[in-house]
Amino acid sequence: MKKLRLIPLLLMLLMLLAGCSSKSLAEQSVLKNSRETKTITWGVKADTKLFGLEDVRDGKQKGFDVDMAKLITKKMLGKNSEAKFVTVTSQSRIPLLKNGNIDAIIATMSATPERAKIVEFSNSYFDAGQSLLVPNDSTINSTDDLAGKTVLGVVGSNSVINIKKAAPKAKVLQLQDYAQAMTALKSGQGDALTTDNGILYGMAVENPGFKVVGGTFTKEPYSIAANKGQSGFTKEANKAIKEIEKSGEYNKLIKKWFGDVPGFNYKELYR
Ligand code: GLU
Repeated sequence: MKKLRLIPLLLMLLMLLAGCSSKSLAEQSVLKNSRETKTITWGVKADTKLFGLEDVRDGKQKGFDVDMAKLITKKMLGKNSEAKFVTVTSQSRIPLLKNGNIDAIIATMSATPERAKIVEFSNSYFDAGQSLLVPNDSTINSTDDLAGKTVLGVVGSNSVINIKKAAPKAKVLQLQDYAQAMTALKSGQGDALTTDNGILYGMAVENPGFKVVGGTFTKEPYSIAANKGQSGFTKEANKAIKEIEKSGEYNKLIKKWFGDVPGFNYKELYR
């Protein structure tokens, strides 16, 4: 009888123990896990030329963000480590991080105060600013010319929020990703496309007949985002970014991706 009475107690103990080890993926220490597995799974863009674009020939994402992720992984985990990549969009990146599908985001993501409430940001690793892309024969020169016009943007981007403040009289049409936004601009569904200057220059390179105008009307410091509570990871990422800047590898990457972009003053980005 006595033994039988112990069974519920034992069961409770077991349940408690199980509870301890079944921390959700997003709650576990990303730094500890990545050190053990020698891998970091990064969320990167696949629709954004110059930062993260899927190369149809080998199916791999390529761009400045992707190269930064590879360098940061090596600095954080050593030579034999591996950077893995999962495609994210402006809209899906935070949910994928929160679910534990990715360890960190490095995807043209501005460190905004609103986002900082739900994710942990590293120091900035790239200085962007919001601008406009228009057809070469457009009369739009800046955000002042947008009243009554339709501006295209992407769901989940900071740009669609900023443009409402910068041009309150413009109509904003939100597409799913940057490839779709560019197609919409080409087919005349909007008068201008708005996002960060670097992204727009990437589009202008691929699509003759379009130009970047209006300078930059916001500051968009790109940062790596990890989940809340992962300050160990972001601390190490910050160290890695500093090392990459000091060694000259950073400027090499800037030159590699932005050196041949017509009209883009890439030297301004040097650190
Ligand atoms: N940097 C802006 C943002 O974080 C626009 C680029 C993007 O959509 O990723 O929202």
